Amino acid sequence: MNMQPIQEKHQNGGCPVCLTYEAQPIWRVNSDQAAQHFVLKEKSPERFFKLMAHIESLWGQGYCEVLKCKNCGFYYSSPYVAGDEKFYSLAYDRDGYPSWKWEFQLTYLFLRNSFDKSRKLLEIGAGDGAFIKKIADKIILKENILCTEFSDYGRRKIEEFGVNCSLQDFRDISNAEFGGKFDFICMFQVLEHIDRLEFSFQKLNTLLKSGGSLFVSVPNPSRIEFNELHGALLDMPPNHIGRWNRKSFEKIGEKSGFKIIDYNVEKPIFFSMAMEFIVFRFLRKSQKSGSLENRILQIQNRHYLKIVQFLGLLINSILAIPILLKMSTKNGNSIWVHFIKNN
Ligand SMILES: [Zn+2]
Repeated sequence: MNMQPIQEKHQNGGCPVCLTYEAQPIWRVNSDQAAQHFVLKEKSPERFFKLMAHIESLWGQGYCEVLKCKNCGFYYSSPYVAGDEKFYSLAYDRDGYPSWKWEFQLTYLFLRNSFDKSRKLLEIGAGDGAFIKKIADKIILKENILCTEFSDYGRRKIEEFGVNCSLQDFRDISNAEFGGKFDFICMFQVLEHIDRLEFSFQKLNTLLKSGGSLFVSVPNPSRIEFNELHGALLDMPPNHIGRWNRKSFEKIGEKSGFKIIDYNVEKPIFFSMAMEFIVFRFLRKSQKSGSLENRILQIQNRHYLKIVQFLGLLINSILAIPILLKMSTKNGNSIWVHFIKNN
């Protein structure tokens, strides 16, 4: 079957979810500001310039805007282009994967009631397999689980555990082999990174059985907005290119044959929310050339860097107290959605 990407209408602007064009501009960055978000020019100039050039080639221009759709509330980068493998290898050093997450727990609690181990599950972007390790054989047989993961490290861990893990983009999975095969599909913290949304949801529909479940988690847009409005890190494309809310999930569901049957917003843990905010504010300030935070992060001696960074964070914590007091109980980390494929 021909699985070439469908040419989507919003490729040159317009909301990627509801395809309308009325949108409120939120902010705009040039490619050097975007690159500085991921790699400091003052610290790693060579990598910075490579990244900046690559971001420009992804965007096809020197800048990118973030817009909020006036119809469905979806925030999207324009151009709506996802980061590729080269982008991620330049932008990030590998850090570890989380061992267990709130969205894993909600999905686990649902799956636990499925008393048929022969059902089939696909996890897209499975990390090092933290989620499937908990359900394999106890809830679903290992041989009935398929994962996809781009990182070599994660894929090796999953394969060592005895579960099949593919390097493929899920949109390239063979329909002939897997069309209509899965009872469950999980996509934790993936959707905010991907483009070609219409095609992606059509593909998820094709892979799922009728009545099957799709579990999705994404970052909470309220938390991102709070961070952005109070001097913490921007939700920078082309890493995150879309910010989801209930209405945008409903819209994409309607178009692609899914119905929402459960929707949850994570409750915040004040301490971890405050710590993240302080670190994100420190990092945002460090993007300004010559700032105290920028100078701190240029320190080469690791031991000395740790001490000075700790002091810098301490000062930032004290300065952030008035803002921390304004943090909302709605600002948990993530949103979790349970879709059912319509019959
Ligand atoms: Zn929209």
